[in-house]
Amino acid sequence: MKKRTFLKLGAAAGLGSWLAAWLGRGAAWGAAMPERLHNWAGNIDYSTENLYAAKSFAEAKEYVRKTAKLKVLGTRHCFNTIADSKDAFLSLTEMHDDPELNEAARTVTVDANMTYGKLAPWLETKGFALHNLASLPHISVAGAISTGTHGSGEKNGNLATAVKGLQLVTSEGDVVEMSREKGGPFLNGAVVGLGALGAISEVTLEIQPTFQVRQWVYENMPMEAVRAHFDEIEASGYSVSLFTDWRNRNVNEVWIKDRVGGGKEFPAKPEFFGGKLATKNLHPIAAISAENCTEQMGVAGPWYERLPHFKMGFMPSAGKELQSEFFVPRKDAVEAIFAVEKLHEKISPHLLITEIRTIAADELWMSPAYRQDSVAIHFTWQPDWPAVKAVLPEIERALAPFGVRPHWGKLFTMAPAELRPRYERLPEFVALAKKLDPHGKFRNDFLDRYIFG
Ligand SMILES: Cc1cc2nc3c(=O)[nH]c(=O)nc-3n(C[C@H](O)[C@H](O)[C@H](O)COP(=O)(O)OP(=O)(O)OC[C@H]3O[C@@H](n4cnc5c(N)ncnc54)[C@H](O)[C@@H]3O)c2cc1C
Repeated sequence: MKKRTFLKLGAAAGLGSWLAAWLGRGAAWGAAMPERLHNWAGNIDYSTENLYAAKSFAEAKEYVRKTAKLKVLGTRHCFNTIADSKDAFLSLTEMHDDPELNEAARTVTVDANMTYGKLAPWLETKGFALHNLASLPHISVAGAISTGTHGSGEKNGNLATAVKGLQLVTSEGDVVEMSREKGGPFLNGAVVGLGALGAISEVTLEIQPTFQVRQWVYENMPMEAVRAHFDEIEASGYSVSLFTDWRNRNVNEVWIKDRVGGGKEFPAKPEFFGGKLATKNLHPIAAISAENCTEQMGVAGPWYERLPHFKMGFMPSAGKELQSEFFVPRKDAVEAIFAVEKLHEKISPHLLITEIRTIAADELWMSPAYRQDSVAIHFTWQPDWPAVKAVLPEIERALAPFGVRPHWGKLFTMAPAELRPRYERLPEFVALAKKLDPHGKFRNDFLDRYIFG
């Protein structure tokens, strides 16, 4: 029998007392009120509590077939309403099949909502690795690829570029399989699917032999070094991140992740373009303890314990925060960074930290790095939406000359009419969505507004 699950976030009470408190919320909004179903940051209360947690593929398929309208939820790390639903949620996070390794094909096939934090150590025990990871391993594979989630590295495509195949439950409960071999262009349209095409049940990822990474951090590199040496800075490691609060015309921290045995070794001199080698582990937000961060100081370790900034099992980033991120062509990186720098007096009061990363071009229709090597300018904001909402249009205006594309899972204010022309394959994506989901079962307000118009 299908089981309907209501999430009781943070509430130790059983369903009876939880429901009683919930129904009595009009009188006791506040202390007695149970938390609503919300995203990781807590800035979005989802529009329904109706969540079904499938424990098997058969349960998921049946739920999709029978339900009139729904969204699939991953680990809820998006900051905007892309994952929201007014009707129903399907969670696949309780499906726990073992990954399936194909050593000959160099692939691993996983339940779609497995987290990278679970997959990566498992892969390591088998001697394999993924090409890259995001700043945190806590997110699900399907949720990450659906929004074009990325790490850094000028030669590294986003996490979705590792996808070699997908299994999707479409709106009628049919199962569609796509792979690079059997449906190349079709797969390119479906991977960064924004949750609009169906419920992804399995993902096949390209893997490679495991590798080690060393991580170094430099402090206080002058911003002018970015203007003069951006290409050299970005080429200095397998993955490079520049963190700045835009306050003192400097890059507060440069994180360099160097692949051991990856050709030329990073020399780790005491100075890097005017920045000084850190003498202890640091958090990107200097005021926060580095305990939550992956090991630095040049200590070699497995790929999955160095490529993310934050460790699994620990709070990533600041916790109480909002995030935005904007992609521009890599060739415009310096101009774009300095266009943002001009706004520092408006940005800094509301900012926790900015991170600047590079991402290699890809062929995925809805990827912000579609056919362009990109630089992503990210903002971790204080949790003050009115202030952030006021400054975002200024950043978007400053980056408009570069054809800026916002991160699909973070906060932006750009109008749909401005956003849509930035994705030349959007008409084909809409056609694909209409083919797989003719009645819009997987659509929500966000998708109607930005994609389907
Ligand atoms: C602290 C923090 C750090 C972050 N760091 C980075 C970073 O380094 N780089 C970066 O690019 N982003 C980063 N993000 C953003 C994050 O990676 C994305 O928001 C990502 O999409 C979250 O994945 P999720 O599993 O939480 O998905 P959710 O937020 O749950 O869902 C995202 C989308 O995927 C869809 N979806 C999920 N599962 C399925 C499925 N099985 N089938 C179909 N659709 C599905 C949902 O419907 C929704 O549209 C960060 C976020 C946080 C909170």
